[in-house]
Amino acid sequence: MNQAFKNVCIRCGKERVFLREWTERVGNSVVINTETTCPDHECQKLVDKDNKKQRDKHILMKKRSEQRAKERNRLRNEVKIKH
Ligand SMILES: [Zn+2]
Repeated sequence: MNQAFKNVCIRCGKERVFLREWTERVGNSVVINTETTCPDHECQKLVDKDNKKQRDKHILMKKRSEQRAKERNRLRNEVKIKH
């Protein structure tokens, strides 16, 4: 197998260790997912933490924008009722 991807750790720059590979069907195409980890376990822990933080932030932002959209709709409906 050739290693087309060379993945280095975003935190320490070490070459990441290949963990597993799996395929996933997305619509009509098959996507190959790979999971890698930093050879430094402590570093990987920090990377995971950062990833989680990013994910949480993303979810929170999505929730907020949904909330705003709802609020906008509500206000628009109220205006309609008044007129
Ligand atoms: Zn690392």
